[in-house]
Amino acid sequence: MLVAGVDSGSIATKTVIIEDNKILASNTLDTGLDPRRVAATTLENALKKAGRKYEDLDYIVATGHGRRAIEFANTAKPEIMAVAKGARTLHKSTRLVIEIGGQGIRVIALNPDGTVDNFSTNDKCSAGTGCFLDAMAFALGVELKELGDLSGTSKKPENVSTKCTIFAESEVVSLVARGKGKEDIIAGLHESVAKKVASMVKPMLQKTVGNVNTQTDSANGSKVFFAGGVAQNQGVKDALEKVLGLKLYTPKNPQTVTALGAALMAPKKG
Ligand code: ADP
Repeated sequence: MLVAGVDSGSIATKTVIIEDNKILASNTLDTGLDPRRVAATTLENALKKAGRKYEDLDYIVATGHGRRAIEFANTAKPEIMAVAKGARTLHKSTRLVIEIGGQGIRVIALNPDGTVDNFSTNDKCSAGTGCFLDAMAFALGVELKELGDLSGTSKKPENVSTKCTIFAESEVVSLVARGKGKEDIIAGLHESVAKKVASMVKPMLQKTVGNVNTQTDSANGSKVFFAGGVAQNQGVKDALEKVLGLKLYTPKNPQTVTALGAALMAPKKG
């Protein structure tokens, strides 16, 4: 069965094509102002990569913030269910999913059988999200992709006290003006993201993961799955592991986990 999962996010649109539950191809593009058209383009691009045509598809599942705009999908699923399904399929021992996207932070607790037990999402504030980091990268004049490597070279992270994006931007600009190193400012920003996310994760840890001190040291053995576009930032991952005191499992392409999960939710033929 050939299925597409299309995740229309606030910042990026992701499509994953699977055949009989195996990933064939994926494509990611900025959502911009026309979610429907961009969703159609990511589907077209992913099908081309997979060497398949639109007519070959048996089913299309939409998810994400803009899922209602994707009227060519056969069905739409909530992203909480989709990311949980994707994470659990990629990493069987997952009991807690942390997803950091453009505007949303989601922490999802899974039952031992993989069903969703409970979840929490961020308030409307952008603190700790991808948008926050996008704005800070822009203010610092560095590429988003460079954030992780740069913070990795920091010897003394700066304390960035402001959580609000607008105020943090002026704090960052004044730190640069005072001669502080970009790598230390970025490391400080990553710490502030990690603290915000950890405040949502900690209340759910005991029930799902148990005593963190007894957790394995290896990411592969971890019960905590880190997904979303921000999971590509090694600096955020390192900071989060430090504040939580445990290892996180991150797949090769964390940004497409929700699209994959959506595709896996298609009804089986017959
Ligand atoms: P959404 O589904 O809300 O659109 P995503 O899960 O696609 O969000 O994540 C988008 C965010 O991922 C961006 O705002 C950006 O901060 C981050 N991001 C995307 N690519 C990278 C990258 N290569 N390195 C670091 N962060 C990235």
